[in-house]
Amino acid sequence: YNTNFLASVLRKASIGHDQSLFANDVDHSTNISYGTLFKNAEVIASVLQANGLKPGDRVAVQIGKSITGVELYLATILAGGVFLPLNTDYTANEIEYFLADASPRIFVCSPDRVQGFEGIAKQAGVSNLLSLSNDGLQGSLCEQMLHTTQPYTSVERSADDLAAILYTSGTTGRSKGAMLSHGALAANALTLADYWQFTRDDRLIHALPIFHIHGLFVAINITLCAGSSLNFMSKFNAEQIIALFNSSSVLMGVPTFYVRLLKQAQLSKQTVSNMRLFVSGSAPLLSETHSAWSDKTGLDILERYGMTETNMNTSNPYEGLRKPGTVGFALPGVEVKICNPDTGQELNDGEIGQIEVKGPNLFSGYWKMPEKTAEELRSTGWFLTGDLGTRDEQGYISIVGRSKDLIISGGYNVYPKEIESVIDDISGVDESAVIGIPHPDFGEAVVAVVVAENQAQQHELQDSITQSVADSLARFKRPKQLHFVNELPRNTMGKVQKAQLREQFQDLFK
Ligand code: ATP
Ligand code: MG
Repeated sequence: YNTNFLASVLRKASIGHDQSLFANDVDHSTNISYGTLFKNAEVIASVLQANGLKPGDRVAVQIGKSITGVELYLATILAGGVFLPLNTDYTANEIEYFLADASPRIFVCSPDRVQGFEGIAKQAGVSNLLSLSNDGLQGSLCEQMLHTTQPYTSVERSADDLAAILYTSGTTGRSKGAMLSHGALAANALTLADYWQFTRDDRLIHALPIFHIHGLFVAINITLCAGSSLNFMSKFNAEQIIALFNSSSVLMGVPTFYVRLLKQAQLSKQTVSNMRLFVSGSAPLLSETHSAWSDKTGLDILERYGMTETNMNTSNPYEGLRKPGTVGFALPGVEVKICNPDTGQELNDGEIGQIEVKGPNLFSGYWKMPEKTAEELRSTGWFLTGDLGTRDEQGYISIVGRSKDLIISGGYNVYPKEIESVIDDISGVDESAVIGIPHPDFGEAVVAVVVAENQAQQHELQDSITQSVADSLARFKRPKQLHFVNELPRNTMGKVQKAQLREQFQDLFK
């Protein structure tokens, strides 16, 4: 794969180790060796080329989680295409938008959706619509794999060529397509594999979706770069994960994974004795969760921070203190600064500002959005993340929220996380989300949406929240109203959907 930048990086560690395990497919009790993985990827690459794929063409997929799906990703890279995975939750309407936006040459979906998508795909200029079943064992893609005779033609790709377009999660607005180059993906995978000390002996529990940067690039690219292996699950299942701890060494998860695993009675120092690393990211990990995990298992979760546009930016240290509530330090080769969002002036430690990042990990721009790209990805190489953060005197970076969630009430800046932390600490509170709601006098009013551990106690809880908030927060920060809900709206990656909450409560002060 010498002439294919990313493929050569991902293949390097396993050259000469074709027999070693790439993945144990937990749901199907099958093992896939490195040799088989890449052989299948080459076969799929030839199928893609037979379907007309030319270098730079997009291969959009909305498929279940399977090893064939991973092979399809690698195949796209080998064939010089641009991999474009879509969230499996997206409806036909949403898919229509993404296909029209990205105009892929090939679209792969599950067999039962082919008929429904035919019109949309045609409209978007998709020339070949293929199918792959959720378990990766059936569909026209598999049939064509059996019949292809032509070996794939290797395609030259350099560091600057695009390897993928990943749409952002759409937490703050419409999803944007982040263009990711071979060089950016390779750089981040190599850095992380080294920083988190991955070796051939590691076995990662893979329970994340593979349409998002976390499960696809962080988890899989690192594994490939290090020649490690996977315990590959089609979806998250707490009991199954606990049973896998014995034959695994690393878990990568979103905070919800850890919250759910903590509810399992079997979780103990004993059950994790073979594990060396627990990584959390994609959404904030509560300090309470971090501490509860340390108490239960004797191991500190390593929290890191990244985004679709940048891959991973910061990480708590592998050795040394993993500080709860922080995302650690800039990764090697990555620069991070905290700036005044209005002037761009770099701020002092302890001050809150917008997080800006620069490094070889960054995306190449938003697909078909040159103005937005110019606004956020500056010609100096700095990317304005839209996240607000601060750096403490030891250099640890904390994220205090997103600039879009910042509340300006009566002219004062209110950072939701500060208030959420106070509320979350109150006994009887499960979790909370603080949002700004339009208000005739204040511009925005602070509103707290709270999940109680026990619904019957909401009334008393109301009083203790009001009391605690009055004790510890300035008047302008205190919620004007409290609302109880059964659960916070979250997407698959565990991100709280604040836009949805703001919409739900938009009329409170009208
Ligand atoms: P959109 O950009 O479409 O609004 P999104 O930003 O949620 O959606 P992603 O790229 O999936 O889409 O997520 C990146 C964001 O996730 C970061 O900008 C940050 O706000 C949040 N994030 C990631 N890791 C952490 C973390 N460890 N702690 C807090 N927030 C995190
Ligand atoms: Mg974003």
